[in-house]
Amino acid sequence: MTETVSPVDLTTLTSLCKRRGFLFQSSEIYGGLASTWDYGPLGVELKNNVKRAWWQHFVWGRDDMIGLDAAILMHPGVWRASGHADHFSDPLVECLQCRMRWREDQLEQPACPNCGGELSEPRHFNQMLTTNLGPVQDDASLTFLRPETAQGIFVNFNNVLTAMRRRPPFGIAQIGKAFRNEITTGNFIFRTREFEMMEIEFFVRPGEDQEWHQEWVRECVDWYSALGLREDRLRLRPHDPDELSHYSKATTDVEYRFPWGWGEIQGIANRTDYDLRAHSQHSGETLAYFDDDTREHVAPYVIEPSAGVDRAVMAFLVDAYGEEEAVSAKGKAEKRVVLRLHPALAPVKVAVLPLSRNERLAPTARRVHDLLRRSRAIDGPVQYDDAQSIGRRYRRQDEIGAPLCVTVDFDTLDDHAVTIRDRDTMAQDRVPIERLVEELRGRLAQ
Ligand code: ATP
Repeated sequence: MTETVSPVDLTTLTSLCKRRGFLFQSSEIYGGLASTWDYGPLGVELKNNVKRAWWQHFVWGRDDMIGLDAAILMHPGVWRASGHADHFSDPLVECLQCRMRWREDQLEQPACPNCGGELSEPRHFNQMLTTNLGPVQDDASLTFLRPETAQGIFVNFNNVLTAMRRRPPFGIAQIGKAFRNEITTGNFIFRTREFEMMEIEFFVRPGEDQEWHQEWVRECVDWYSALGLREDRLRLRPHDPDELSHYSKATTDVEYRFPWGWGEIQGIANRTDYDLRAHSQHSGETLAYFDDDTREHVAPYVIEPSAGVDRAVMAFLVDAYGEEEAVSAKGKAEKRVVLRLHPALAPVKVAVLPLSRNERLAPTARRVHDLLRRSRAIDGPVQYDDAQSIGRRYRRQDEIGAPLCVTVDFDTLDDHAVTIRDRDTMAQDRVPIERLVEELRGRLAQ
């Protein structure tokens, strides 16, 4: 897992993210909180675009899917029924010499990776974070921060079935925060204790589950590819039987080749009828659908594609990062850093750049900026930048992944046309302002 395969290393990526307003360390002025990150102005746009692209594709784009947004806090009984209170744990080992703690299943050899020291016997460490509701801190007020969004879907199964008149096969999608008290964190936003998930619980007839599992694995990989992740940096990894979660009959991970090696970005599990049955038993309410063929109430099987938003963001950033030799306006060789993000994900869609900061150009450039900013057709932020040379401004936009720049120059004042400059090809085309919105929309939709 040490092979470096991406052109970007983590230090370079982290520093770009901070410099350009994608991600900041949480509570930085207090020295930071370990492995906790805040999304900056561009980061929040990118992250929202990832979630929107996912929702558009998997919810709006299909006729067998609907959405839900359940609360983070749930009745503690949910976590006893689901098995998380007893089984959601990692094997924790401690170095007897330097006292550092590790997840035993992630170690390549049975010795401390820090100092080579001997390790303690593993003990099971429950990953759920707890809190107390109300003014009294006792066992009765103890509750959990959800470690997955899935349970909010399972406990609402009957509500959704009744309200939406659905029968399997159909799925419920949800995007939301989850919390896990990870033993080891790190690799930037790859493993944190607070993160966001995009989950689907897809309910199918028992017996049809294996086919649907395969189908969902394909669907998920296709989504990442369609948004630009390189196929040679994606792979599937079926779980060995001894590493399956307590609820799973089969799980396949989608992995991405990060700078430090392969890492999971999504798991697709066959959860069988484990959760619905468990909740039926513990709550006393039968979670099932009426099968018209067998004339019986049946607990459906569940296929669960479960993706991390932050890991997807990170994979898209790593994949988009490129460095190339370019020639400056003064003919000097220089490095061009470019984020080749898919236009649907790009945090800034278009930048309007007057050729220079000049009072004759400014009113027209501002008018063009207003036109684009207010146009729903652009569907995302449009920046205005007139500081420093035009070459520098192109580089800045390349570095944040803006797919298109619109340059207003002195000819614009006469011919009412502007130049569109493409991030990836650096090609420049002249377009009349009256056709600009349409032209940009067409290019961004590609
Ligand atoms: P890992 O083996 O890396 O700990 P997992 O198998 O426990 O992950 P799942 O329970 O399958 O993860 O969670 C589904 C998805 O949620 C993962 O594929 C990942 O994208 C994301 N995820 C899980 N844990 C974290 C975390 N600590 N930080 C960020 N994302 C996470």
